[in-house]
Amino acid sequence: MPSELSGTDRDHRGNEPFMCSFCLRPRQETGVLAAAPTAAICRECAEGALKLLEAPRPADPDPLPATPWEALSNDELLERLPRVAQARDQVEEHLRRWVTAARDRNISWAVIGASLGMSRQSAWERFRTAP
Ligand SMILES: [Zn+2]
Repeated sequence: MPSELSGTDRDHRGNEPFMCSFCLRPRQETGVLAAAPTAAICRECAEGALKLLEAPRPADPDPLPATPWEALSNDELLERLPRVAQARDQVEEHLRRWVTAARDRNISWAVIGASLGMSRQSAWERFRTAP
């Protein structure tokens, strides 16, 4: 079950999502985010997704949506690049927490690395915490 967090909650907890994973807007713009272990969604995106899911299915399924950058001007595309990078950072932070949970269960770096398609050494170098 996703958790709902206000900006104040995040400030106190220190490691909660800071942006919507769907529209890439920061929480300061979106307000409350519903958070799951690997993503967060704002009210506007959640309502849009709900409408999409509740809509009757067309006889012929729609093709996959166009890539979002196709509809953007160069300026709009460039404006979004840092947001996409922030989304990457948020996912990286989630991954780091999952790896920490695996380490807390005494799962070896070799097994974690294999799970992620990397060597034991690469997993350790990427996810070890500073002493
Ligand atoms: Zn959103």
